[in-house]
Parts: sequence; structure tokens; C-alpha cells
Amino acid sequence: MKDMGFRGMILTYAAETVFDHSTQAQNGQRVTALTSKQGDVSINAPVYQCPSIEAWREGTVQTIYMTEAEDYLAVKLTGAGVKVTEAFAAGELPPQQMMDALDEVCTKAKDRKVRILVDAESQHFQKGISRVALELMRKYNRDGYATIYNTYQAYLKSTPVTLANHLAVANEDGFTLGLKLVRGAYMATDERSLIHDTKEDTDNAYNTIAQGALRKNIGEFGDKGSRDFPSVNLFLASHNKESVVAAHQLHKHRVMSGLPTVPVRFAQLHGMSDEVSFSLLQMNDGDGTPEVYKCSTWGSMGECLAYLLRRAIENRDAVLRTDSEYRALKKEAFRRAKAVFSLSSSP
Ligand SMILES: Cc1cc2nc3c(=O)[nH]c(=O)nc-3n(C[C@H](O)[C@H](O)[C@H](O)COP(=O)(O)OP(=O)(O)OC[C@H]3O[C@@H](n4cnc5c(N)ncnc54)[C@H](O)[C@@H]3O)c2cc1C
Repeated sequence: MKDMGFRGMILTYAAETVFDHSTQAQNGQRVTALTSKQGDVSINAPVYQCPSIEAWREGTVQTIYMTEAEDYLAVKLTGAGVKVTEAFAAGELPPQQMMDALDEVCTKAKDRKVRILVDAESQHFQKGISRVALELMRKYNRDGYATIYNTYQAYLKSTPVTLANHLAVANEDGFTLGLKLVRGAYMATDERSLIHDTKEDTDNAYNTIAQGALRKNIGEFGDKGSRDFPSVNLFLASHNKESVVAAHQLHKHRVMSGLPTVPVRFAQLHGMSDEVSFSLLQMNDGDGTPEVYKCSTWGSMGECLAYLLRRAIENRDAVLRTDSEYRALKKEAFRRAKAVFSLSSSP
């Protein structure tokens, strides 16, 4: 990937728990409560170590050792099992064992100059996940750049308020906000009323946040508002060519004009939308931007199932896009051939 011009890789250990709003069921590898065979399951017992959290810690640390400097590690916190998801569903921080595992993961990643993207997951767990991400950003993003990024899902109606709250905390506590922006991948299982009514609304929300961050003006933060814009590192994860190309062009324009902006990086999933990734890479005119990453997910077949299912749903849209790109190319080839033909046959 790096030989092809990508800046680096994002690696994710796939274990996760997905909450289906319509059935109120949780699906994942470690969703069942631990049995008596595994001993005392009380998280308050001093010597108790939850095996699911330990398995997640091991898988995640293993992933760090597959990365190199400037790569990213993406973490799905619900992969640590029922004790963690119970806390998230209540909007709380997970048990201390999980917080310790996260500290170990963050320290090891930082030592290797690897950054961490905390993935956004089902709405049912998201409040707790976001709380953890904020805690980690407050602790590890104090060197003028983001080691930890929280993921903001533009399809949620609540995201502008969440983001404003986090910008305020970053301002007050003086840390860099890692702003990873996605549209959101849980439409098939999340509560529909929480998500924008139309695709166009989601697109507008995505582009407004991305371009607002690049202009250092979001809501009341920035010189058009009443509050300072905090230090922000932007990470645009998307297969939407229009969004990413517009963001890169805006960033480039602002850098060249000496206007204030924030650092930005881009990513697409491994095996999807290569056309978007390569179009971005082709826009590099020698200054090393845009910085593009590919995201690869690993795990056993069982662990990867929910991830693969979401990609199958997204690929339906991607196939439609491929078809329209193919038709556009065919039209362009025909237009050029016609121009050549009419030139050679003219007197
Ligand atoms: C590197 C990387 C990391 C990612 N990490 C996460 C993550 O942590 N959490 C997460 O949730 N997703 C994540 N995603 C998935 C990402 O959200 C999906 O790729 C995205 O949903 C597809 O949107 P798009 O930006 O590629 O654009 P498009 O393909 O243009 O948009 C499709 C998206 O638009 C939205 N949408 C579609 N129809 C409607 C409708 N009728 N009403 C409202 N909205 C609609 C949905 O979000 C849908 O997925 C990640 C993607 C990448 C590339």
C-alpha cells in the first residue's frame, strides 16, 4: 500500500457487539453473560479478570505490533464483551480492567508513533464509547496533535450538539480534538428516527462539519462565533468522492492562501472504492498531500461477520456508483472517438 503512494494503513481487530434496535438483540462474539464455569463474574471482585476484556486486550495489542510509525489502529470497544457493553448501554465508563487495557494500548501505540481511531458503533452504546474517547483524548492529546480520535457519525441528528460539547471541552481543557468524520454505517440496525430523514441531509451534515473544521469555524467556535476554535486534527473517512475531493481542494486553497486551517487526512476501506483512493492520490502535485490511508480489518470469520455484512449493504450503493462511472467513461470515450473521426473525415 505504501509503495502505491498511500501514507499508511489503519488496522482494526474486528471483534464487536452490534445492537439491533428493531429486535432489541445484541449480536457478537462475546455477548453472552459469563457462565459459572468461568468463576465469579462480579466486576467488583478484586482478583477477577474478565476473560472477554483480556481477549480484546490481547487482540488489540497484537494489532499494534502489526503497525508501523504513522499508521493508525482503529478500536471497536464493544468487542470487549458484555461487561463493557453493559456499561456503555448505561452511558457509563467501562470497568477499570478495560480502562487499564486502554491505557496500555494507548501507551504502546504512542511509543510506536501510531495513532488511535475510536470507532463509532451502534447508537445503543455510543454515549459510553464517546465518553471513553473524550477521556483518552484529554489524557493523550496534549502534545499539539491528536494521538486519539473520536468518531462522529454525520447521519445522526444529534452530532452537531455532541461535537459542540467536545469542542468546548477541548477548548477548556487545552487538548487537541481528534475529529474522525464518517457518515455512519449502522442504518440497518439503529433507530431510524435518530438518523437524518434523507441522504441529502446526511451529505449536507457531513460536508458542513468537514468544511467548517477546515475553515476553523463550526457554530459558535471560530472567528464567526464567540468562542475560540480549539486545536483540531481532522480525519475524513469516506467513499464519497465529492466530499473528499472538495475537502482536499478547500484545504489546499487555504494553505496556499495563508488562511487558517487544520491538518487533514483521508481514508477508505481496503477492498472498497479504490477509484476514490487513487483519484485522491493523483491529486498530489508534489507536496505530499492529500495523505490517504487504507483501512484493513482482521479477525476470525465469526469476528468479521458483522463488519462484512455492513460492507455487503454498502457495496449495493457502490455497485450503483460503479455503473454510473462506467457509463460516464463510455460516454466520454465515445465523445472523443467521434471528435477524432469528424476531424479525419473533414475536407
Ligand atoms: C476508514 C473508514 C472508517 C470508518 N469507520 C466508521 C465508524 O467508526 N463508524 C461508522 O458508523 N462508520 C464508519 N465507517 C463507515 C462509513 O460510515 C461508511 O463508509 C459510510 O456510511 C458510507 O458513506 P460514505 O461517506 O462513504 O458516502 P456515501 O456512500 O455517499 O453515503 C452512504 C451513507 O449515507 C447515509 N445514508 C444513506 N441513505 C440515507 C438516508 N436515506 N437517510 C440518511 N442517511 C442516509 C448512510 O450513512 C450511508 O452509509 C468508516 C468508513 C471508512 C472508510
